[in-house]
Parts: sequence; C-alpha cells; structure tokens
Amino acid sequence: MDHYRRIGALRRKITRAGLSGLVVTHLPDIRYMSGFTGSSAALAVTSRSVRLFTDGRYTAQAAEEVSAAKVEIVSGPPAVGAVQWLAAQPGATMAGFDPAWTTVAELARWKAALPSSLRRSFLAALPASLVQQLRRVKDEDEIAIMAEAALVGCRLFEHMLGFIRPGLREIEVAAELEYQARLQGADAMSFETIVASGARSALPHGRASVSPLPRKGFLTLDFGVILKGYCSDMTRTVHLGKPGKAERDTYNSVLEAQLAGVAAVTSGVTCAEVDEAARAVLRRDGLADAFSHSTGHGVGLEIHEQPRIGAGQSTRLLPGMVITIEPGVYLPGKFGIRIEDMVAVTATGGQVLTPAPKALIEL
Ligand code: ZN
Ligand code: ZN
Repeated sequence: MDHYRRIGALRRKITRAGLSGLVVTHLPDIRYMSGFTGSSAALAVTSRSVRLFTDGRYTAQAAEEVSAAKVEIVSGPPAVGAVQWLAAQPGATMAGFDPAWTTVAELARWKAALPSSLRRSFLAALPASLVQQLRRVKDEDEIAIMAEAALVGCRLFEHMLGFIRPGLREIEVAAELEYQARLQGADAMSFETIVASGARSALPHGRASVSPLPRKGFLTLDFGVILKGYCSDMTRTVHLGKPGKAERDTYNSVLEAQLAGVAAVTSGVTCAEVDEAARAVLRRDGLADAFSHSTGHGVGLEIHEQPRIGAGQSTRLLPGMVITIEPGVYLPGKFGIRIEDMVAVTATGGQVLTPAPKALIEL
C-alpha cells in the first residue's frame, strides 16, 4: 500500500480546507493512512509532517507497520498527544477533526490539553471526513485484496450448498460458515452472519437463531469475511424444497432488479440513478413497498462506507469505488429474498467481484 501517496493526497485536502493540520482518530482511517493496525492510536497530519501517536504496548508493532509517519509513544491518550503536537507546530492556526468519531468527552479533554489562547478556535469539526473521501476510491492493491475476499465468500457459499439441509438450526449453518471462513484464511467475519429461513427470511437483518431450517421455504445467507483488513459482503437466497409460483415470481423480480442495478453501475452515474434502476423493477412488479432499504453501500476497510447507493444520493460513481448492489423484498409473515453482489466501478461499467450463481437454487 502506498501510504506516502495517500498522505500526499490528504495534505492537499488539508491545505485546500484552509487548515494547518488534521487529527485522525478513527482506527480504519489510521490504518488506511499509515498501515498501523493497533487498537490505540491517533494520527496528526500537517502540510509538512505526519506523526502517529500510540502507547507503549505498540512500540514494536508500530515500528514494523509504519514507515510513512514518525511514531511517538505516549503515556496518556494518543489523541491528546496528537492535538498538543499539532498546536505546537510552527504556523499552527486550526486543526480539523471528524465529529462523527469524536465524543463530547474527548473533545473536552483535547481542549483542556491546549494552551488557553487556542482553546476556543483551534479545533474545527469538519463537515465531511477528509480521509473517508480518499477511502471511497480504492487503488489496484485494494481492489485485488477485495476481489480475493469476495472469492473466499463465493467458495464459502458453494460449500454451504452441500451442507444445508432441512432440520439444521440456523446457528449451525452460521457456525459452519464461520468455521470454514477461518479455515480459508479469513481474519474474521466482516459482520454478524445473517441466516434467516422460512418466515424469518422476511427480516432484512435476521441474525441466525435456534430455529430449524424448514422443509420448504427460503433461506437467506448474508455474510462476509475480512481478508488483510478488507471486508467482503454478499447475499444469496436459496429455496429448500420446491418453490410455489409466488415464491418463484418474486425471486425473479428481485433477481431482475439486482441485475438492473449491476447493469447501471458505471463511472459518472449518480448513486441515486443506480438505486432507481433496481427500484424501478420492483415498483413495476408491485413490490416497491416491500423493498425497505437502500440498494447498496460502499465497502472496504469497513463493511459500510461511502458512498450510499440510495434515493436522493447525488454522489457520482468513480472508477475504483467498490459498492454492493443488494435489493430485497420482504413480505412479513411470508418470506423474504435478497441478492447481493460486490461490484467494482470501472471507467466503462462495473466488475462483479462475487460471481456465485444467482439463478434460484432448490435444495
Ligand atoms: Zn450483506
Ligand atoms: Zn451489504
């Protein structure tokens, strides 16, 4: 990962925002900017230098992982060290921070650590995270890792097709999937595995329960792995036993909506346009109200990142963004269906990173 290039790009954003510095405390942002993966750190960036603050537990790890920033070991909270360092730099006027990841208590502590002349005006809450704007567009290394993580997901799904049978409890399905994920090299799951069967499939976020899989009904699996820090995310819905006409027709509507969403992905379109491409299919089939969430989200070091693929989102897709396309239909008391792929935006379209089968599978 080219941390020097990322820091250069962040410096330009800091200067453009009229700031003398930036304090970064959100750990995925710190990992992205510096490579540091510890659980206690703050990064201070100015137009001339960059410094990572962490505590004594991480002396060796920081030396190993961080090359693009100078490392300083502190005994107090790393963010306080970062803020004090920024205030002491020549020409320090104003340092930005990300209010989405700063508690009221932390801000009070930072201010208390500043000289009284700087307490009122030195720290500025930024309306949008500068680091997250950079993180939206992945570089080649990141896309290669995410494609690998997505393929691990596809292999897990194939494995599960041979494992799933009526009578197994949902938690057994989740346990097998997570066990196999670890065997395939996953650092961890990227979120709590969703296994929802029968009428429970109508819960968009049904966590695996002790319910046994029915002889007949849908089963939704929504899961992802973390590989080298990067998350994968995919959903497939299969049918146990033979589906009736309503089940089959509804599945085909969701699949058509999903394919329309994927087909709409290309550089330059707005997120709202992609959302609408999927939503229009479900609206045509009288299922608009049953599609109760947005079409997708960015994914990367975190499972949910910018951009959001939803109605009213004017952000335009750029090559290198990695998003999900995951329309769903939820009919309470009956069943639910969701199909989700990860898609990398290219200059001319979208590359599906999760090529597992999507035609309705009967088990
Ligand atoms: Zn998902
Ligand atoms: Zn998702």
